[in-house]
Amino acid sequence: MLHPKIADVSATRHILKTFGLRASKRLGQNFLIDSNVVKAIVAAAEISAGEEVLEIGPGIGTLTQGLLEAGAKVTAVELDKKLPAVLAETLAGYENFKLVQGDILKVDLAELMPAPFKVVANLPYYITTQILLALLEKKLPITKIVTMVQREVAERMTAAPGSKTYGAMSVAVQFRAEVRVAFDVPPEKFLPKPEVTSSVVVCDVRESPVEVADEEFFIRVVRGAFGQRRKTLANSLAGAGFQREKILQALAAAGISAERRAETLSIEEFAKLASVL
Ligand code: SAM
Repeated sequence: MLHPKIADVSATRHILKTFGLRASKRLGQNFLIDSNVVKAIVAAAEISAGEEVLEIGPGIGTLTQGLLEAGAKVTAVELDKKLPAVLAETLAGYENFKLVQGDILKVDLAELMPAPFKVVANLPYYITTQILLALLEKKLPITKIVTMVQREVAERMTAAPGSKTYGAMSVAVQFRAEVRVAFDVPPEKFLPKPEVTSSVVVCDVRESPVEVADEEFFIRVVRGAFGQRRKTLANSLAGAGFQREKILQALAAAGISAERRAETLSIEEFAKLASVL
């Protein structure tokens, strides 16, 4: 075979050994070793031939290979300086692959990915939230994000108002995208095994997000409201630096009781509150 499958435990061990590498804990390296998981992620991303995909953290090329086999044009951003040499070997011969060595939080994505694209990634868990929020807040032409995250993060991303895990992260993500968990992935599917179960989450980016006049201010209100979960809205917003009188007026104007807690508010209610505040 021209391209031996990377998503396999012995292939992964062999590649790491050949290049004298060890998975770096600091960089959140847990390599996928199951080709069915790779296939399922690619299927969840609904890749069609020639489609532009941004992959974050290609590692040794495991998921990248699945995306390329499905016909995607993959641009991958990898922080680890040792991996370009590995990828040059493991993905040799695939034409539609471009690698950028650098930090995904520092790369100019607007310049790198000017046309509509999907994001597909098995994210490094130490910066999952930062990466997702940065992708969603930057107003890039992203249509879909399919990512492996810790199950606990997936629960927060998909939580509905009133549930224990509903928080600023749920609002910030759901405000921009329709989010669902596609499937769970147990630790055994990675080398080395992570300590927790993972989930693949699909975010379909909304063409027109919930209407808010000033997004930055909206997020400030959401963060402030969830700042002290146990307190009422009026108290937690006051604790976050908003003037109590203004808060009470705004809550009344938005038809929201000052006694309610942030975790009971829908995204539309947060939007209304931010616009009158
Ligand atoms: N995609 C591979 C797979 O599925 O087997 C590897 C996934 S591994 C969980 C996360 C990858 O993200 C690692 O290759 C790691 O080096 C890379 N990474 C960590 N921090 C990064 C950053 N700030 N920017 C880009 N890549 C990063």
